Amino acid sequence: MNAAGPKTDLRRSRERMVREQIESRGVTHPLVLRAMRKVPRHLFVEEALLPQAYEDHPLPIGHGQTISQPYVVGWMTELLEITPGQKVLEIGTGSGYQAAVLAELGADVYTVERVKALYELARARMDALHYRRVHLKLDDGTLGWPEQAPFDRILVAAGGPRIPAPLVAQLAVNGRMVIPVGTSRRSQTLCLVRRENGRVIVRELGGVMFVDLVGAHGW
Ligand code: SAH
Repeated sequence: MNAAGPKTDLRRSRERMVREQIESRGVTHPLVLRAMRKVPRHLFVEEALLPQAYEDHPLPIGHGQTISQPYVVGWMTELLEITPGQKVLEIGTGSGYQAAVLAELGADVYTVERVKALYELARARMDALHYRRVHLKLDDGTLGWPEQAPFDRILVAAGGPRIPAPLVAQLAVNGRMVIPVGTSRRSQTLCLVRRENGRVIVRELGGVMFVDLVGAHGW
């Protein structure tokens, strides 16, 4: 700790994370970088892991799940090209960190988690941090959130064997979805799915490692 106190240290760690892990790897959208400078990632991990909150890797959040590596959050967020007021569906709330980043971009976020304890903790965090644009649901996210569809954007934060059909059906025309897909577990290709009038275009972007997408249209 330096003389300026722990809060300043955390802010500096966050600035450094954005500069050295995210900007340096090619995520350049100023609003994405601003959102990641703002969200207090250290409040989304358990206290014992606080010193590692701004390091360049995922961290365990219990129940065999992880909060994604900061760079992956930045990359996926930038790929979505979010504008304020858009409706965004996230599958895999986990800690709630990614949902908070999406909310900082002015999106109305609908996020689904299947593990009750994680859902409850994320809900308490969103309340405490006043993220009123984030709506949470405990359910199998491979089914989407039909009552709230269509969505301008969809972000899937867990990897399954295929793109769940309900998610494609709930994507608005001109919508974008980012989703890790892989036929072997814990190793996937990040895909960008675009829905145009009458057709769906899938582009493969590169290798990623996510926890399993478990459910009716997952593993
Ligand atoms: N976005 C999270 C990272 C989550 S890790 C964050 O910022 O912390 C992936 C999460 O997806 C885990 O919490 C896991 O329980 C959840 N998950 C896996 N399959 C799911 C499904 N079918 N529906 C909803 N959540 C699911």
